Amino acid sequence: MYSKSVQNINNLSDQILKVLHKVCGKDKLVLHEPQFCGNEWIYTKDCLDSNFVSTVGSYVDRFEEELKSYTGAKHVIAMINGTSALHMALLLIGIKPGDEILLPSLTFVATANAVNYCGAIPHFIDSNEDTLGIDSSALSSWLNQIAEIRGNKCFNKQTGRPIHALIPMHTFGHPCDLDNLKKIAHDYKLIMVEDAAESIGSWYKGCHTGTIGQIGILSFNGNKTITTGGGGAILTNDDKLAKRAKHLSTTAKKPHRWIYEHDEIGFNYRLPNINAALGCAQLEQLPDFLTSKRRLFTRYAEAFDSLKQVRLISEPAGSKSNYWLQTIVLDESVANQQNAVLKITNDYNIMTRPVWTLLHKLKPYHNFPKAPLPIAESLERRIINIPSSVGLA
Ligand SMILES: *Cc1c(COP(=O)(O)O)cnc(C)c1O
Repeated sequence: MYSKSVQNINNLSDQILKVLHKVCGKDKLVLHEPQFCGNEWIYTKDCLDSNFVSTVGSYVDRFEEELKSYTGAKHVIAMINGTSALHMALLLIGIKPGDEILLPSLTFVATANAVNYCGAIPHFIDSNEDTLGIDSSALSSWLNQIAEIRGNKCFNKQTGRPIHALIPMHTFGHPCDLDNLKKIAHDYKLIMVEDAAESIGSWYKGCHTGTIGQIGILSFNGNKTITTGGGGAILTNDDKLAKRAKHLSTTAKKPHRWIYEHDEIGFNYRLPNINAALGCAQLEQLPDFLTSKRRLFTRYAEAFDSLKQVRLISEPAGSKSNYWLQTIVLDESVANQQNAVLKITNDYNIMTRPVWTLLHKLKPYHNFPKAPLPIAESLERRIINIPSSVGLA
């Protein structure tokens, strides 16, 4: 009996390796690489030829316009990267030092860092087994326990501090449970800021991710679905926030042809033209990228179908995911095989990765407030990201 179960366990990593070889071939594979098959060379050359390489230039305007029409957001403000877009978004909604902000522990560190840059305090919430996003019922029961509304504001009864905002994140491109989160945000007077860094091309009930909260952000880092090298954007339907976003991210300089006057301490956070040029070329290919990523998902789904201890993450009902990073989740019974799977696949030059170390465990964040995190801690032991590049399909 003992030896039989050991053999099954040993087989699992071999079986997963076999599936990855079958779908991806045997070449050296990274997790996600960019693809530049469109007008990237033409548009960047155009920037160099015209001398417009920095934050003023026609590609910045064009990239913003095209992102507006793609996402349906009323305003798009292009930023130097997703992290600064998130920092800026939090400043815009009035986050102050000492405010608490609710966010999942299962997210990339940038989500919490942006909170910290404002002097605010991240407060970690559990995740959902299916969407991998912040879990709305865990959030609701936690708030029910610790929050009180005084006047028109929400406070943490345990720390006495105001709870000001909620930052859901759409993990690996899968939209989280936005309807319920929106309702909770409304009931507890919280502002919802969507970290849609990973989810350009993902839709929740017909709305693009990042356009459902008061404000949202995208990232165009080199490993995201489309890239500008480094880059990001703020999405909002609020005219005032948009106007202030542009002002604050361009050193708060008052518009004038020759006088340099700044009316507050601003930031140099705008996206350069040369990066926006790349972005315009990448956006033209986005529909094809999304088709390829969905095709890769289908191939993985067929190949993993026979492995009963492995669940391939698929888009939540009512959502359309961009399938940025393909993800398998091991059954609890084989969670102790996560390391063996990571080892054998990486030994064979197929890059796989566990999810980010949960933020509440990181040295800079382990003393911050948190709800019980049983699902996030279980997912951390079971998630494996597998090769997801557009070229694989
Ligand atoms: C990539 C990412 C960011 C930050 O984007 P950068 O452009 O790399 O600064 C923020 N949040 C999440 C969840 C991300 O995946």
